[in-house]
Amino acid sequence: MLDRALVDSLFPDDLPDPGHWESRYPPRELPEGAHVTRFAPSPTGFVHIGGVYTAMVAQDLARHSGGVFFVRIEDTDKAREVADSASQFARAFAYFGIEADERDPDGPYGPYLQSERERIYHSYVRELLREGKAFLCFATREQLAAIAEEQRAVKAQPGYYGRWAPWRDASQAEVEAQLEAGAPFVVRFRAPEFTGARSSFVDLIRGRIEQDDNRNNFVLLKASDTRPWLPTYHLAHVVDDHLMRVTLVLRGEEWVSSVPVHHQLFDALGFERIPYAHVAPLLKQEGSSKRKLSKRKDPEASVDFYIATGYPRDAVLAYLRGLANGRLADVPVAQALAEPLTLEDMGVTGALVDTAKLASIAKDVIGAMDARAVSDAVSAWAEEFDPEFASVLRADPEYTVRVFYVERGGAENVRKDLAAWSDARAAYGFFFPSLFALVTDPADERLGRIDPEEARAVAADFVEHYREDEDRDAWFAQIRELAVRHGYAPGPAELKAEPERYRGPLRVVATVIRVALTGSSRSPDLWEVARVLGSDEVRRRVGALAG
Ligand code: GLU
Repeated sequence: MLDRALVDSLFPDDLPDPGHWESRYPPRELPEGAHVTRFAPSPTGFVHIGGVYTAMVAQDLARHSGGVFFVRIEDTDKAREVADSASQFARAFAYFGIEADERDPDGPYGPYLQSERERIYHSYVRELLREGKAFLCFATREQLAAIAEEQRAVKAQPGYYGRWAPWRDASQAEVEAQLEAGAPFVVRFRAPEFTGARSSFVDLIRGRIEQDDNRNNFVLLKASDTRPWLPTYHLAHVVDDHLMRVTLVLRGEEWVSSVPVHHQLFDALGFERIPYAHVAPLLKQEGSSKRKLSKRKDPEASVDFYIATGYPRDAVLAYLRGLANGRLADVPVAQALAEPLTLEDMGVTGALVDTAKLASIAKDVIGAMDARAVSDAVSAWAEEFDPEFASVLRADPEYTVRVFYVERGGAENVRKDLAAWSDARAAYGFFFPSLFALVTDPADERLGRIDPEEARAVAADFVEHYREDEDRDAWFAQIRELAVRHGYAPGPAELKAEPERYRGPLRVVATVIRVALTGSSRSPDLWEVARVLGSDEVRRRVGALAG
């Protein structure tokens, strides 16, 4: 064990003792059963939907128990850090309604950036060193690689332990010599003597888990020569979650195997252990098998995909809540959003991400919105992702709202054609003359099986007799009259009664008008379309086909 003077010489004189932090961050006064949870992303420049998923569950458990949820940015890996990650997080969290209950760096439990908590970690590491529960390790990269090589050769478990832990029991003199030579070092945890015993804990999602106990003398503080002198995840997790008074750690399943490490550290520091819930990763169906949603292969792994596609937040949240708790998968969206999530309902195997299911929820969500809300949301989306469409929408705001009113006026005939804001241009773009390509070719395939000459004649006749009408039936009567003038049946009953008398069904004629007005043989209600376009535009479009 190193003497105290040597240990203390490694740290600034004014570094406080752990007691200081204990009183700086006192236990929280919260109602019985309140959960304090956190989301602790690393700023690697990519916000994974699985992160939002875990954060959403953590936030929900805190909210519904009268507790606290916060976000702590784990920026201790300076090499992997990406410059604008902070703004990426901000954008993703804002979109998905992930809102920390506390964020003030000077507040009772701040700061929330690990790089700003360096002194705290140092206090605890100094304490562990003073107590002989940690040691300095001067092993070079090459020496560690040689150890790993030898372990492979003799088929020993990898790690820094037993005879492969050269600095664990180094003498004070050996350490002093290295320090004097200015050799860089890391601080390692002195793992308890390995007895071969198994380590066991109860995971709040996965139940009892038994695994080998830890024997590795893992790193607590990374290389001393790369200031800031930052902690490893293991140390930062234990110290922060203790001092920030977290009551429940929700994190990815990949951390299950580190629990023995973390428990040893909690115990060595004299902290109470914190319950864990390890969340299974989201999966993707690939052929007949399932695999983890991949950052490299699957666009839907990134939150940017949901934002850029323009799925409404409530739809994505309701969908994710259904993945978290299967009982919420098939209930109305409002209920899925309101009902508390529970850990008991979380699956041990990962949930499958299915964008088709998300799209169907999104159609319901958008279908229930009023025209103005849809118009506002589409406009806001377009400002960022489709500037050309945005400027068209912006040019005449009243017209834009009327467009989105089509089939959104009443309760029964709600349109469910949009799953995302990016669908809007294809579905509604035709309303805007500057985005609409006139249909001028009478042989155009979209017009269906009608003779080109006949199509021209129908269009010309329509324009000649066109009248706008406040009444839907009266408006459609003119399409029927048009059909009859050209030898088509006025309706299905007539056609059925005397098939030989007609050249075909009314639909053939209606399709000509529909395609001329909308560019597609599938469109919203024609009368509503015509009312929004106005009679001049109706005549211009159909007239273009008349030649
Ligand atoms: N920064 C860690 C990660 O992104 C956090 C794990 C945790 O929540 O403790 O995996």
